[in-house]
Amino acid sequence: MAKLHLITYGCQMNEYDSERVAGLLKSRQYDLTEDESDADLILLNTCAIREKAEDKVFSRLGQLRALKQRRPDVVIGVMGCMAQLHQAEIQRRAPIVDLVFGSPAIARVGELVEAVRQGRRRILDTGEAPLVKITARPASASRLKAYVTVMEGCEKHCTFCVVPTTRGRERSHAPATILDEIRGLVAEGCREVTLLGQTVNAYGRDLTPPTDLAVLFAQVDAIEGLARIRFTTSNPYNLTARLIAAIRDVPKVCEYFHLPLQSGSDRVLAAMNRGYTRGEYLRLVDALREAVPDIALSTDVIVGFPGETEEDFRATLEAAAAVGYDNAFVFRYSPRPGTPAAAMPGQIAPEVKAERNARLLEVTRRSAAARSDRLAGRTVEVLVDGASRKSARELSGRTRCNRVVNFDGQGRVAPGDLVHAVIDEVLPHSLRGHLAPSEEAVCSWR
Ligand code: SF4
Repeated sequence: MAKLHLITYGCQMNEYDSERVAGLLKSRQYDLTEDESDADLILLNTCAIREKAEDKVFSRLGQLRALKQRRPDVVIGVMGCMAQLHQAEIQRRAPIVDLVFGSPAIARVGELVEAVRQGRRRILDTGEAPLVKITARPASASRLKAYVTVMEGCEKHCTFCVVPTTRGRERSHAPATILDEIRGLVAEGCREVTLLGQTVNAYGRDLTPPTDLAVLFAQVDAIEGLARIRFTTSNPYNLTARLIAAIRDVPKVCEYFHLPLQSGSDRVLAAMNRGYTRGEYLRLVDALREAVPDIALSTDVIVGFPGETEEDFRATLEAAAAVGYDNAFVFRYSPRPGTPAAAMPGQIAPEVKAERNARLLEVTRRSAAARSDRLAGRTVEVLVDGASRKSARELSGRTRCNRVVNFDGQGRVAPGDLVHAVIDEVLPHSLRGHLAPSEEAVCSWR
């Protein structure tokens, strides 16, 4: 067997793609290795969403130069968003790279690697290709939880984002192929799926006949043996009353919603081309909470977007405080070459971005702590993952609202069980609890 070392940067879509690549290469006799010096093939699955992410990739390629000099037969490849966006720069700055390919070429990764090996020449494949559902996964992938891509691409054209360029237009996978993939995963022991798309709540509108995520939820819910359904990422613009009702009514859909706000200022939201106002966003949050009072909300926010004034930023602080997120990912705006925002006047100084970043994090940290505190003393459903990382005597799992719970249950329950745990202690990054008393603690099959 040859050895594959895979380095993944960025979002869940990239993690998913990496799993597929490892699965496809497994059938070409490549086994995964953690040790790059032992590898015959090194692939970097890259992210272009922020400059920092790109810098990391170039620095990693620089580190690999010595290895390539020592072992010129090692094939080094770059895939993912940077491959799609910066082919020429990668070739210029990192001549050690033998293979550059975009997401549409993933299905052909085995052939591409073979062609490099046979011809000892560099290959570039970043063109369009038909949408293919790849279900291969490496043996090392989690048995209990899996990502399942339901759509690719995005057509929103937010002015700061490179995704429409790197991932192309919106294309949904047919429900039948998605359901087949999930049935296969469940047959291997999977208990939780996360349905993935750049704008997952726009799912299905490009299909013939059109469908939507609410219908898909009901279809996935009917799969016996599956315990939980999650989904990400949504755009507020596409959040419909039908979807909110489905989150309330479909039993396996978890009460957790990642709804990017990006800014609380209408002026900045318009400049970002987000397609909603702060008022519309807050009304969606009200509708979600009315339908599912206990729903956990998380978000993405960008601080220091071009032209963002102190007043705009205060509007973001107020909106974040008004929502009271369970979790928030705050990013300093990073200009992406080729995007409209990169050329906008009023670029914000790094120190102002840093200061706003810290102020917003303080607000979101407080609301996340308050949201966690409400769980103290409550009995929650936990999907057991396995032994706790902190103590081998404890088990670890996640609540439906996606919080980690460590609890004493060794020998009584097993990974994959759905149990009830009573929360004794709320810690900054996790919860500690004990199994709810009685046989009824285990609320599903093993
Ligand atoms: S909706 Fe998301 S993926 Fe699409 S352009 Fe906007 S930020 Fe990028």
